Amino acid sequence: MPNDPIDPVCGMHVEEEKAAARVEYKGTTYHFCSAGCKERFEENPEKFLVRLEEDIGHR
Ligand SMILES: [Zn+2]
Repeated sequence: MPNDPIDPVCGMHVEEEKAAARVEYKGTTYHFCSAGCKERFEENPEKFLVRLEEDIGHR
């Protein structure tokens, strides 16, 4: 399902309604498979966003 949001921490596709956690950062909402992933994102959002952009660029 290509339109599902991606958990930027672990790279999993997360269904929007089933996301365990959400964070709004710089105007974009990110979805997470678990509270643990959300906590890791909040510790260092930029690190995970860079990785996310690299992943998308490879497609
Ligand atoms: Zn995750």
